[in-house]
Amino acid sequence: MVTELSAIRFDLEQELRRLIEELDQLRSNDNNYQEQQRASSINKTGEAVDAVTNLERRLVLEAHIKDSLDSVEQALQKISAGTYGICEDCGKPISPVRMEVVPHADRCIDCSIARLNRVYRLQYRENERN
Ligand SMILES: [Zn+2]
Repeated sequence: MVTELSAIRFDLEQELRRLIEELDQLRSNDNNYQEQQRASSINKTGEAVDAVTNLERRLVLEAHIKDSLDSVEQALQKISAGTYGICEDCGKPISPVRMEVVPHADRCIDCSIARLNRVYRLQYRENERN
């Protein structure tokens, strides 16, 4: 188990570095893009729309990378704290198969599904209201 955990920790640390690089790259690409936009005037509607779409895409991607970073960091903290592989909701051990597929999983499959159902139900209610 100890060697297994250190292998998982190694993978998570690699993942952490990869995500940080990805985020850096995304941000530096964005700076280049903004400079390009500044250099060429965005009078044409098409270009302005492109700029908005690209910004949206970048923000979604950035949020996604940040979420993943948070999960990986939490998993690393849990390894240090000795609570890695324990479900945050029910406190039961998460199945090793799940941990292998999703090394930063913080809930067992049952609690994850229950949580997703709650989120969808809330969204559904929001949509009903609108
Ligand atoms: Zn659970």
